[in-house]
Amino acid sequence: MKITIIYDNTSYQKNLKKDWGFSALIEYHNKNILFDTGTNGEILLANMKKLNIDPQKIEQVFISHYHYDHTGGLSAFLNKNRNIEILAPPSFRGIHNDVVVKYYDSPQEISDDIYTTGEIAGIEQSLCLKNKKGIVIIVGCSHPGIEKIIKVASQFGKPYALIGGFHGFNDYPILKDLEIISAIHCTQHIKEIKQNYPDKYVEGGAGKIYTL
Ligand SMILES: [Zn+2]
Ligand SMILES: [Zn+2]
Repeated sequence: MKITIIYDNTSYQKNLKKDWGFSALIEYHNKNILFDTGTNGEILLANMKKLNIDPQKIEQVFISHYHYDHTGGLSAFLNKNRNIEILAPPSFRGIHNDVVVKYYDSPQEISDDIYTTGEIAGIEQSLCLKNKKGIVIIVGCSHPGIEKIIKVASQFGKPYALIGGFHGFNDYPILKDLEIISAIHCTQHIKEIKQNYPDKYVEGGAGKIYTL
């Protein structure tokens, strides 16, 4: 499983543009899934190019939630590739074109070893990827709260990695059973999360590649 951060508030590879927003490419079991699309389509496509990611090779776009910093790059991406499925929470509306949209309002399998929590708290879904070690959870902004997200994801296996935006999260003991913690994007308390889990914390940012 390979996860590449394309768009983030910070850049891990200095040749990539940093900007408020989030997007990542998930490569797993021969599937290429774009998780969110950042704020600005030009930056999204420019960073993809620098990372040698071909938009044509992506089959699915997983939208965590409708906020502009996760969906702003979608129309620019669709101009490069319309032959995709959009996997969206029901609260994300306004895609009127010829693209296939699937809505997820409850936890379920998307394809082999790939699951969604479904929309939680009326706003956001998280992506869950299962391998031998357990579940890798990719989150957008974690608006429903990390505790709730981990609880829902646990029905698919034991969560061991959590990657994405943690927003205002500060209930640090909730993370104790995870092995990999990578808090990026909108996370307000990165410093405290690092201090609590120095051995589990993994630095993120645009250009960071996780091989799990
Ligand atoms: Zn948000
Ligand atoms: Zn966000």
